[in-house]
Amino acid sequence: MIANPIPWPDGARCAVAMTWDVDADSAFNWYNKDTADNLVAAQSWTRYDPLIAIPRLVEQFARRELHLTFFVPGWVIEKYPAQIDLLVKNDHEIALHGYLHERSNEIDKDDELYWLGRGLEAYRKHLGAGPRGWRAPSFAFSKHSLRYLLEAGFEYDSSLMGDDIPYALRDGNASLLEFPVDWTLDDFPHYAHNRDLGYRMPISSPQRAMEVFRSEFDAAWEFGALWISVWHPALSGRLARFKAVLELLDYMCAKGGVWFARLDQVCDHVQKLIAEGRWTPRYETFPLYQSPLPEFSKYR
Ligand SMILES: [Zn+2]
Repeated sequence: MIANPIPWPDGARCAVAMTWDVDADSAFNWYNKDTADNLVAAQSWTRYDPLIAIPRLVEQFARRELHLTFFVPGWVIEKYPAQIDLLVKNDHEIALHGYLHERSNEIDKDDELYWLGRGLEAYRKHLGAGPRGWRAPSFAFSKHSLRYLLEAGFEYDSSLMGDDIPYALRDGNASLLEFPVDWTLDDFPHYAHNRDLGYRMPISSPQRAMEVFRSEFDAAWEFGALWISVWHPALSGRLARFKAVLELLDYMCAKGGVWFARLDQVCDHVQKLIAEGRWTPRYETFPLYQSPLPEFSKYR
C-alpha cells in the first residue's frame, strides 16, 4: 500500500510519535485579541493545559519510560517556564509552535517572519540551541514558511498532510524533512467544544475518538507508516480522555513491533538512512503555487 516503504529501526512494523501541542492560552489570546482578558472560563479551560495536564502527562509517561515531542509556542515557554523545565528534565523534546499561535497564512510575509523571530528568540533564551522541529500553529503553513524555516536552520516540519511516511520539502538547493500529520489524529475535531474558541464539536465518549486513533494505528502497523498524534493537553489530558490514551498505549505495546520515538529521533533515523543511501524520501519542490491560478483571473 505504501509505494516507497521506509525501514524502521530493529525491524519495527511502524513508528509511533505521540506528539502534543502545548498551546496553553496562546491560541485563545490570538483568536480573541481584544476580549480575551474578560473570557475567564475560557482562560481556565486553556490554562488547564500547563497547570494540570502537563504534570499529569509527565508523571504517567515517566512510569512507562516514554519520551515524546511537545510543540510549544515561544510565548508559552516564556509564561510557563517551570512546565517546560519539567518536560526537559524528563527527556521530552521541545519543538517550536509559533510565538503566540499566529496563523501564518493569514498575516503578511513580513509579519510571519517577525513572529517566527520572536518564537526562536524565546526558545533559545530558555532552552539554548535549537529547535530542530516546527509545527505551524493551526497547520497554517504559508507559501513563505518553508523558506523561512530553512533559513532558520530547522531540520524537520510536522504540519503538512501529504503522505503516510516521512517525505522531504525542497526549495532551491535546501530541504528539510516532513513528518506528515492528518486531521484524523488531531484531537480538536473529536473533542473541542468551547464557544470562545469557535469550536462546537458534539460531545461524545473518548472511546469514539479512540476508535479512530486505534484504527489509524492498526493500519500504520500493517503497512509500515509513521503514526503521529496531534493532541492537546487541555483536551486529551482531561481525566477520562487521558485514561483512554493510556489504554491505547497499552494496546500498542501489547501488539508489539512498534518503534516509539520523539520526532527528533525519527529525524536522526531518516537522515542516517539518506546519508547511508539505504532509503530516499519523496521530494516536493516549493512553493507549489506562486500565486492564485490565472484561470480565475476573470473573477478578480
Ligand atoms: Zn496549536
